[in-house]
Amino acid sequence: MAYELPDLPYAYDALEPHIDADTMRFHHDKHHATYVSRANEALEGTQWADTPVEEVLKSLDSLPENIRTVVRNNAGGHYNHALFWTSMSPSGGGAPSGDLAAAIDSAFGSFDELKAAIRARGLGQFGSGWSWLVLDGGKLAVEGSPNQDNPISQGKTPLLGVDVWEHAYYLKYQNLRPAYIEAWFNVVDWDVVAQRFAAAA
Ligand code: MN
Repeated sequence: MAYELPDLPYAYDALEPHIDADTMRFHHDKHHATYVSRANEALEGTQWADTPVEEVLKSLDSLPENIRTVVRNNAGGHYNHALFWTSMSPSGGGAPSGDLAAAIDSAFGSFDELKAAIRARGLGQFGSGWSWLVLDGGKLAVEGSPNQDNPISQGKTPLLGVDVWEHAYYLKYQNLRPAYIEAWFNVVDWDVVAQRFAAAA
């Protein structure tokens, strides 16, 4: 079955003032929609057309060479954005708790150190990409990816990612990627991240 653009789990303006409604509208209705349609165009008629997106991204090396790059970029874009929308909530922000908090303290020293690592990866990503919190062989780690690459293609489990493409922030923050990342921390849904951690750990 072809990929479908998921609805946002909240209103376009629900993440105001941190993420503005215009950005959410363009980002979801235009950018994410285009990733979905381009991925579907590339996969249509191939043996991969009915494969879940996670499996496709884990199997990029097995894809026909003539569609590998377009699928990597657009199925990746679909997967990344579906994860991104559900990682944010109007009741987000604050700090993680429970097992996830303990694992963060163990891996990074403190929640503030984790935030610093996510921030540093996001700011250090030249051009477009993402900064990720991943589970890698049972250990938490922070890493970046260019374009729409996802750690899942390297056998890791993404728990949280911040989109640092300019389309994610330019309408409100212009060139101020640091201000956008700081604002984004105010809408991160740590309960969802904890559920992903529990499911994957
Ligand atoms: Mn994006």
